Amino acid sequence: MIQEIEPLCLDNQYHPTLPGPGAKVCAFRGKSSLVSRRGEEIALPDWEQVAPGVSRWVYLFRVGEVNYFLAELRPDFPLPEGYSYEELRAHRKLSPKHVVYAEMTAWHLYVWYRDNQRCGRCGSPVKHDGKLRMLSCPDCGNVIFPKICPAIITAVVHGDRILLTRYAGRAYKSYALVAGFCEIGETAEDTVRREVFEETGLHVKNLRYWATQPWGIECDLLIGYFCELDGAEDITLDRDELSMAGWYAREELDIPADDVSLTNDMIRAFIEGRNPR
Ligand SMILES: [Zn+2]
Repeated sequence: MIQEIEPLCLDNQYHPTLPGPGAKVCAFRGKSSLVSRRGEEIALPDWEQVAPGVSRWVYLFRVGEVNYFLAELRPDFPLPEGYSYEELRAHRKLSPKHVVYAEMTAWHLYVWYRDNQRCGRCGSPVKHDGKLRMLSCPDCGNVIFPKICPAIITAVVHGDRILLTRYAGRAYKSYALVAGFCEIGETAEDTVRREVFEETGLHVKNLRYWATQPWGIECDLLIGYFCELDGAEDITLDRDELSMAGWYAREELDIPADDVSLTNDMIRAFIEGRNPR
């Protein structure tokens, strides 16, 4: 999966370090990210390449020995040769994987910083804490921590078949699993049961935790469960959310491993008979 970048690891503790030689820069415009691209490989700019154009920056995290910074570039700054803004969503299957993961995690933090420049309680400009990844309001004392939205993803299994779906009205056209955000006051298991019922009219039982995945592009933490059909198998499709939902046997599925998404990891686990029972 995208977060599996061994032998490297992401150290996301906030170290208020100064940028300098060897540091990498994440810069976003709209939903696009500044990269140089060669075929299926992307690279992020070095600090030295963009430093003269940086109007604001903040330390993000470290991957291996390399520090990453979020930077805002002045609109009139000429981009370094070979660099352009590319749609972030299109990068998920590119390499190297640790750069894509860094870029997606940087996006999650970028959205949080972008949307929290003022206190939501009193409207005053907020200040960054010196030690923690935390913003605080000097006027009313409100503190703001990074926002992570928990969401579930679930593979419903019925005998030797799995429930696969396709989203309605989205660019993503591959097979999907039932998924959705946790509501306030709900456990993740409640969310599984509610989302499956809302999207397909089915009931489920025997929920088994599988894995989680940070999915920065949507600011989520995805929580994956396998579960079993409980009762009738006839699907009542929620046409606002889905264009299709159906039961598929292992041998009908030709879905290669992509080493990126939890969806793919779970479908592959089913195909290979590794799903928990
Ligand atoms: Zn305030």
